[in-house]
Amino acid sequence: MRSRAFVLVVLCVCLIAASRQSGVSVKSGEIETALARLSPIDAHAHVYNSSPRFSQLLDRLNMRLVNICVVDLHDPGFEKAEPQHAKALELFRQSRGRWAWCSTFDPRDWEKAGSAERVKRDLDSTFKNGAVAVKIYKDIGMELRSRSGRYLMPDDPVFAPILEFVESRGKTLYAHIAEPTAAWKPLDPKSPHYSYYKANPDWHMYLHPERPAKETILAARDRLLERHPKLRVVGAHLGSMEDDVDQIARRLDRYPNFVVDTAARVPDLMIQPREKVRAFMTKYQDRVLYATDLVLMATDNPDRAVTRWEEEYLRDWKYFATDQTVVYRDYKVKGLALPEPILAKLYRLNAEKWVPGQKSIPSD
Ligand SMILES: [Zn+2]
Repeated sequence: MRSRAFVLVVLCVCLIAASRQSGVSVKSGEIETALARLSPIDAHAHVYNSSPRFSQLLDRLNMRLVNICVVDLHDPGFEKAEPQHAKALELFRQSRGRWAWCSTFDPRDWEKAGSAERVKRDLDSTFKNGAVAVKIYKDIGMELRSRSGRYLMPDDPVFAPILEFVESRGKTLYAHIAEPTAAWKPLDPKSPHYSYYKANPDWHMYLHPERPAKETILAARDRLLERHPKLRVVGAHLGSMEDDVDQIARRLDRYPNFVVDTAARVPDLMIQPREKVRAFMTKYQDRVLYATDLVLMATDNPDRAVTRWEEEYLRDWKYFATDQTVVYRDYKVKGLALPEPILAKLYRLNAEKWVPGQKSIPSD
């Protein structure tokens, strides 16, 4: 173990030193090698496709996944939990456990008698099939309304027995609650989230002023954290505080079992002041999980997806691990050049710690 770590340190140091010297982009082959040596985990992805092309990419990068199921009625392929559970389980087995999975539930019938018990039963069967976590989604707080018209919030008492159950079974909660601040603002081509809200007006809250404010939703999320201090919670997408690392820091200080993943929000870090982000990533090195939110549906072209995923993995690595210039749309930013021990936490150790139970299935 020690010699492997030593090789890793030497390799990263050489890679970073080489990039500093030359001022030329590090070659993608070198990035791949450095990344693969960390045995990285992408802690938040959505894969429903067993294409060998794609699994070869992950094998080449030595990458494991947490494959996340989520119910979103506005997103084709995500309408129901069960088919996603079935596919995620199939891929979990096929990958011999390298693609861990996170189950979910549809909260829509929360006002019907016995709904929490039903959810617990369903989740229990996913746990028996190896699910390591449970996801809750932004429809809670942004969309679902009671018969009386009030919005269902993440701290609603209906969720308490479910969250207690998740905690009692030693599982982690992924909470995608609220959205980027851009959702509550007019479309802005400069925002990293421009194309998403252009394509998804249902989630563009600026068009739905009757819905709760972002602050109201995050305050309800914070009350959930307050009331379940022993539950491990991953705030997906930088906990929807993507535009200000200081806000994330305040929550991480207040809630010791709360961490965040970087899924689909690395560009939000890139466009904040470099030294501030670097200080944040250093101070909270035990509390951030690398993740992408990359999606691969059964109907997607695996070749195109592989190219896109590879580019994103390499771009992110360049940003976190080197001091090279990273180009993101009109922005040119200098990489954070985080030291190897922090990279090891960001890319693997934190995911193992906060989402435990990711085990390989032993070969027969
Ligand atoms: Zn996601």
